[in-house]
Amino acid sequence: MAEQTESESRKLLRRLRDTLAEDTAGQARLDHIVGLIASSMQTEVCSIYLFRDAETLELCATEGLNKEAVHQTRMKLGEGLVGRAARDGKVVNEADAPSAKGFRYMPETGEEVFSSFCGVPIARLGDQLGVLVVQSREARAFSEDEVYALEVVAMVLAEMTELGAFVGEGEALRARHTNPMMFRGGIGQEGVAEGNVWLHEPRVVVTNPVADDPVAETERLREAVDNLRVSVDDMLNSVSNDPVDKDQREVLEAYRMFANSRSWLRRMEEDIAAGLSAEAAVEKEQSSARARLGQAADPYLRERLQDLDDLSNRLLRILTGQGADTGAGMPEDAILVARNIGPAELLDYGRGALKGIVLEQGSVGSHAAIVARAWAIPLVVHAGERVTGEALNGDHIMVDGDQGIVHLRPDDTVVSALRDKLAMQAEAQQRYAGIRDLPAESKDGCRIAMQMNAGLIAELPSLENSGAEGVGLFRTELQFLARNTVPRRSELAGIYARVLDAAQGKRVVFRTLDIGSDKVLPYMKREEEPNPALGWRAIRVGLDKGGVMRMQLQALIRASKGRPLTVMFPFIAQFDEFKQARQHLLDELEREDKLGHTLPERVDVGAMLETPSLAFAPKQFFEMADFISIGGNDLKQFFFAADRENERVRRRYDTLNVSYLSLIEQIARRCDETETPVSFCGEDAGRPIEAMCFAAMGLRALSMRPASIGPVKHLIRRVDLGEARQVIDAARASGVQSVRSDVMEWLRTEVQ
Ligand code: PEP
Ligand code: MG
Repeated sequence: MAEQTESESRKLLRRLRDTLAEDTAGQARLDHIVGLIASSMQTEVCSIYLFRDAETLELCATEGLNKEAVHQTRMKLGEGLVGRAARDGKVVNEADAPSAKGFRYMPETGEEVFSSFCGVPIARLGDQLGVLVVQSREARAFSEDEVYALEVVAMVLAEMTELGAFVGEGEALRARHTNPMMFRGGIGQEGVAEGNVWLHEPRVVVTNPVADDPVAETERLREAVDNLRVSVDDMLNSVSNDPVDKDQREVLEAYRMFANSRSWLRRMEEDIAAGLSAEAAVEKEQSSARARLGQAADPYLRERLQDLDDLSNRLLRILTGQGADTGAGMPEDAILVARNIGPAELLDYGRGALKGIVLEQGSVGSHAAIVARAWAIPLVVHAGERVTGEALNGDHIMVDGDQGIVHLRPDDTVVSALRDKLAMQAEAQQRYAGIRDLPAESKDGCRIAMQMNAGLIAELPSLENSGAEGVGLFRTELQFLARNTVPRRSELAGIYARVLDAAQGKRVVFRTLDIGSDKVLPYMKREEEPNPALGWRAIRVGLDKGGVMRMQLQALIRASKGRPLTVMFPFIAQFDEFKQARQHLLDELEREDKLGHTLPERVDVGAMLETPSLAFAPKQFFEMADFISIGGNDLKQFFFAADRENERVRRRYDTLNVSYLSLIEQIARRCDETETPVSFCGEDAGRPIEAMCFAAMGLRALSMRPASIGPVKHLIRRVDLGEARQVIDAARASGVQSVRSDVMEWLRTEVQ
């Protein structure tokens, strides 16, 4: 770029910044700015279009077009050249605009006399805010240098927009981060929560997009990049060469590559030379990388984008001195908003600190979801890429976990609708509290054992509060997932003993470590598998690498301190696997005995039935197992070949599908024949209608989230299970795919 243009550009940026110091209102400032840009860029037209809502752009200021069109001319995202620039996040540079593809003529603007058009997105960190447009009569394409200068100006405009510099009385120029917004995601954990945003990683605020002294600014940038390199090297040095740390090392090596990238630094230095501050230069490159790669379908590129993004954030923190800890206090009723979060970080917040969680990424089976479920707080996953960019600490937010919807800064109608829902839920809980000590006994005298699922000691108080008869599934993964190394046996024994203490004699079914698939231990070498859900997981790992499982069994035996012990092995697909796992337990009992430890007073060994194959296992399996627990989450995904993590397919097959109910019926019958106690511990056990149908098919024990016990019991106590069975049988005989509508109709008409 010519020296002349450079200094022109700097001069323009300074003038733009000076408008911030002037005592002008939002609109006047915008009007002034378009004038400045037009004269500095020597174009006849300069216009600024800003988003009025997520889909609509509005002409907010112009120099050169008809002033009457301001706040009148609007276009949809993707409509016309302006809409295209905004939608694609790319510059549109046309010498002969009227003949360009997608051109849309707006008569009220009087733009017909202008041939050339250059629209540059006003974007900040991937967030499209508007479009800066220059036009001229002469049919010419704008040069690379001119486009670059416009991009720099657009960056400053983006920062100014973010700072609320254009907010005036005009409704179209409402401050950013004030509009109500709705994000639709996936259901991670049901329930409704109202509270205030707490950003896991607060956003950096850049208050000085324009710099006066490029030399000093370049110096600041270089120093910050040096610091960044040192910190990345330090992180790399702290990671061992152990194969288990391979993944982490790879990520850090990618970080180092970016941190040392000459072209990255060069581009930022050019931005500074054009007049931006070091911070704004970092954001400009971050934004354009997002625009380039954000559309990349290639998962590898997307991951690299994330690396670059993380690194840019680190650099911004170094430059601004704004650490992850901004000193801001956590608001009351905090609802955590994060891009993603690991289980350890989440557990650090502690139970009770959060009312809900919103994740841009995450997944239903992610570790964070397991913790949220354990804490029984609403969680929305896949909430979309803009939540963390839109939400500000302290913003009012409502999470509708039942629908997977997040309402940020909700308007009054939404607030009152959701509050009604909350009140109804609270009222229902009150009602359920009234039946807490009553049995889940149907009208025709069938008694269903109500147990709860847990995974943390902190959940044990729910045993008392919910009226659960015991813990039907204690998932032991969390203690393994939340650490950087394998937990020690003594540590685990201590935890399990406290669980048994807290259960006060009620039965706790400890499920041995169920890892693999989505549950990957940070310190375990990750095997690349084409199909992890069908891969090396759970008992398959336990049997192949016996060390950890044996250690866990020893910890369980020691924790029992003579009390009864119940152990369940996950993901048993065939009899032999159960025999082998059970033998491990028997061997450990013998060993512990020899070592002088007190053995449990009795030991029950069960299997989780999570693959259809086990339902067809030899009778001897059912005789050997002291009990069986149906892991419906996995069983259903394998029965229908529909990934439980995949939003596209996971709801496709109804739990009340006749084939699935017939499978449940067959399992109940086979267990009956051998008098093997059987329960159901998947999520469906906590859904009243599903639970009632399972009971009608013959199951007599259900294990669920504590909060579901009330609703399930409430329904079971109101129905005659024999009648329910007749309804189901009649529906099955009629050839329907799912019995749901017949059951619902019966409940509506026959059950009070
Ligand atoms: C299940 O699969 O139903 C189950 C209870 O186990 P998890 O959800 O932990 O896989
Ligand atoms: Mg399972």
